Amino acid sequence: MNFDKAKNSLFQIPETCPHCSHKFNKAEASIIRHKGDSVLIHITCPNCKISVISSIFLNNSGIMTVGMLTDLSKEDLGMLKSNSTITVDDVIDMHEYIEEKGYINLNKK
Ligand SMILES: [Zn+2]
Repeated sequence: MNFDKAKNSLFQIPETCPHCSHKFNKAEASIIRHKGDSVLIHITCPNCKISVISSIFLNNSGIMTVGMLTDLSKEDLGMLKSNSTITVDDVIDMHEYIEEKGYINLNKK
């Protein structure tokens, strides 16, 4: 999907806030990511501050949109789009941290 198609995907965002029925202004939506034939859009309702994420996919059958409410901000989503992977060392570090702090006992039977 090229950028123009991605911008046109903004027309696929919900017309109203699913929480308070405020009518969305398309200019309030942000394209978080567009890659290939998919676009991820974030919009925050100026009335109730609820955010909606819409994933829009373009395929041979047409356009498919999946939306959900979220408490993630646009900035939060920006952090998630990094391609860093979780390594074995990350898992071991987390295990040691939790074990040391005693928050949960992973070996509890
Ligand atoms: Zn709202």
